[in-house]
Amino acid sequence: MPNTGTSDPDCLFCRIVAGEIRADVVAQSDTALAFRDLNPQAPTHALVVPRSHHADAASLADAEPETVAELVRVARDVAGADGLDEYRLVFNTGAAAGQTVFHTHLHVLAGRAMTWPPG
Ligand code: 5GP
Ligand code: ZN
Repeated sequence: MPNTGTSDPDCLFCRIVAGEIRADVVAQSDTALAFRDLNPQAPTHALVVPRSHHADAASLADAEPETVAELVRVARDVAGADGLDEYRLVFNTGAAAGQTVFHTHLHVLAGRAMTWPPG
């Protein structure tokens, strides 16, 4: 798959995109990769990431707006592949919002009832 964007050799998700670190990949496209979260918070919990390195969702939107839409489409397809058409999508942005990996990732959570507001 092409990876025409930026890459950071020290970034965990860049290394998963490059195939250097194993992940349970559930979907992929030219610009996005989806894999199961290592510490799932719902029966379906996947992360959809751009192949290029950007720290957060807004940075990706500035650089590659179409890829943000692609993340959402892939997220829908990941839930759908598990037989689910109701799901929660989350972009944590910044440490105070819970972001721990600074490579854009869209959480797809599905398969259980969700409460609001999130913690
Ligand atoms: P954040 O807290 O940045 O929004 O989400 C990072 C997510 O990455 C967490 O849900 C965490 O469980 C997941 N994660 C961290 N390291 C790995 C890994 O090596 N592989 C996978 N598949 N998920 C990871
Ligand atoms: Zn990265």
